[in-house]
Amino acid sequence: MRSEPVPEQRVSPLISLPAAGMRDARPGLSGVPADELSAWLGNRGEPTYRARQIGDHVWSAAVQSSDELSTLPNRLRSQLADAFRVSTLADTEITAADNGLTQKALHHLDDGQLIESVLMRYPARGWRRARATVCISSQAGCAVGCPFCATGELGFWRDLATAEIVDQVRFWARRLAEDGRRVTNVVFMGMGEPLLNADAVLEAAAALTDPLRFGLGARHITISTSGVVPGIEKLTALRPQYTLAVSLHAARPALRNLLVPLDHRWPATRVVAAAAAYARATGRRVTYEYVMIDGINDTRQDAAETAALLAGHLAHVNLIPMNPVAHTPWRPSPPERIEAFATVLRRAGLRATVRRNRGIEIGAACGQLAAEQAARPDPAVVARRRDLLVAKSAAALRSPGGGAMA
Ligand code: SAH
Ligand code: SF4
Repeated sequence: MRSEPVPEQRVSPLISLPAAGMRDARPGLSGVPADELSAWLGNRGEPTYRARQIGDHVWSAAVQSSDELSTLPNRLRSQLADAFRVSTLADTEITAADNGLTQKALHHLDDGQLIESVLMRYPARGWRRARATVCISSQAGCAVGCPFCATGELGFWRDLATAEIVDQVRFWARRLAEDGRRVTNVVFMGMGEPLLNADAVLEAAAALTDPLRFGLGARHITISTSGVVPGIEKLTALRPQYTLAVSLHAARPALRNLLVPLDHRWPATRVVAAAAAYARATGRRVTYEYVMIDGINDTRQDAAETAALLAGHLAHVNLIPMNPVAHTPWRPSPPERIEAFATVLRRAGLRATVRRNRGIEIGAACGQLAAEQAARPDPAVVARRRDLLVAKSAAALRSPGGGAMA
């Protein structure tokens, strides 16, 4: 095989940061701790039951504006509106797909940033009850820069505050309630790397699982990480019952370095060891996400190396056909190759599921809508980036253990 030099430059984001807009100084009501809200009410001479009334509005009714705080006296309602934002989502556009079973929201924040959340409804099947899963963002943009991901293309804008995370769930809860339904699962699989914004993410997860607030079972929350080892360790110390999902995407170092650049800092072996400690501490099976990219990470050898890496661990592998994004030359693996990959994993005693990609037609790969709205990158820049990815992936495939195989 011919060995060509690969350009050294990093695969950098295509779209540069937007100028930061003016921030609204009022904190989001859903992120205010209960004791702070009680103190705020106490300072105004309000009776203690007002805190419960406000809590009912925020958590049970998922109110979106101060006009809906109907049980409060007008004076308190306007004082609250002066001090807090009832929702931190300034404006939202919704797109539907899958006959309305998948809906995607593009939320505008107070400073002009755009974030996305997705609602996926699963009708009841056999003994399984109907589910409504909300996929939420933890950051505006993402600094990790996985080249197959539309959010990676945006670069990093900023961390989301606790209320901005929680309000995405409250937004969908409110819409579902209009149909007599509720949110049953929340997954941190939208824009951003949750464990690089761990404090706000853990506070949001605590609010969502608190029986006095949103009241979701901890097992119904999934936190997905591209492999932030200190964040996984922090989670392990707390021993919650959340599902931990690890974005693996490759077992071979050269390829994982390319697909998940965080691998330079925390290689897959360390990530798997940290995730195994989480599984031991919590008794919860870890989910490994593996995006299947045609001719890149989907060979029999990749399957065998993934099986060897995960063998003996309490693990479940989700194989996800790559959702095509404009700036890459890559395509999803064909279904028969994904099945062959799953067979290798199952023969090694691992659980493996082939996922269907929901909402491809509305760009439900995280960050896709925001990327389209943020800017249209110069076609020449996109073409250069595609060439760079072709060269880099060819180099990774030539590395030890690489090489395309059927
Ligand atoms: N940053 C976290 C969580 C958000 S991404 C993480 O990477 O785990 C959530 C999942 O979507 C990850 O497994 C990610 O790899 C996957 N993903 C990103 N872009 C995708 C694409 N184009 N097609 C399919 N899955 C994608
Ligand atoms: Fe960030 Fe996750 Fe996208 Fe990678 S896949 S760029 S970690 S959001």
